[in-house]
Amino acid sequence: MTDPVLLRAEGLTHHFGGHRTLFGPRKPPLRAVDGVDLEVMRGETLGIVGESGCGKSTVGRLLVRLLEATSGRITFDGQEITNLSGHALRHVRRQLGMVFQDPFASLDGRMRVGDIIAEPLDIHAVARGAERARRVAELLELVGLPASAAERLPHEFSGGQRQRIGIARAICLQPRFVVLDEAVSALDVSIQAQVLQLLAELQQRLGLTYLFITHNMAVVHNVADRIAVMYLGRVVELAPAEELFRNPRHPYTQALLSAVPVPDPARKQRRVVLRGDVPSPLAPPPGCHFHTRCPRAGAICAQVEPPTVTTAPGHVAVCHFATQAAAA
Ligand code: SF4
Repeated sequence: MTDPVLLRAEGLTHHFGGHRTLFGPRKPPLRAVDGVDLEVMRGETLGIVGESGCGKSTVGRLLVRLLEATSGRITFDGQEITNLSGHALRHVRRQLGMVFQDPFASLDGRMRVGDIIAEPLDIHAVARGAERARRVAELLELVGLPASAAERLPHEFSGGQRQRIGIARAICLQPRFVVLDEAVSALDVSIQAQVLQLLAELQQRLGLTYLFITHNMAVVHNVADRIAVMYLGRVVELAPAEELFRNPRHPYTQALLSAVPVPDPARKQRRVVLRGDVPSPLAPPPGCHFHTRCPRAGAICAQVEPPTVTTAPGHVAVCHFATQAAAA
């Protein structure tokens, strides 16, 4: 029987720095990702949310092997890929795509669109000549752009069209897993909706599995099947999307959700304003990393790391009071 899990991360960490300098003592590492366990199911969209700097983009880059993990394990389709290199890594990378946030910065402005889209084909020596041109035209059609776009330069396109080019490039090698890193965040709301619609159509048509990284709770509610909430390099809550929005158990998730506008004026919502700034990942607070800002923190929270508590099928929260927490 096929394993329903396409991609699995176990104890994934990524620390920047932490090396000894020529003069002086060893600097503490910046714990960008600090022991993340995740499973991405075949064909689903797993959302990852959290404030800027929480480590969500680093997780995305680790999973598609654009960054090396400091420790931990990544398994893709049953194969461990954590330490692959050379030909084996190139082979796996063909199955892993990534769309970046800024469609202006992520495309080389001097290259023609056709060459930008076909670059992965060239790198992997997959198609040349007429076959390459045919594939580029096919990809442009898939993302809703005319074949003539291949001859033009990125600056001739709008932001939404550029993101379509970025998507065409990401699916060029027919990947099975695509990381969408704030893929619509830089776009106007009406354009966002069109690009999200395109992503949904491509997922259906090509059988793609997505990791959807965003800081926008309203957007992730619309697109994700399940959502992981990250804080200071760790996943603090994970649940099916509807369950998370209906019944958040972690105080951090409750605060994030309290800031999402509610369309129903009859439904009152209390805004939870978190005090203070996010602590430095160079020196995370002891105990629960969130205790310095948590409105529910008790004495235990500053001393003891909270356990991962299952509060409903498929719903886990990392909090001493997860089973007691009332929705804000
Ligand atoms: Fe807040 Fe304590 Fe739960 Fe951490 S463990 S989220 S500080 S209540």
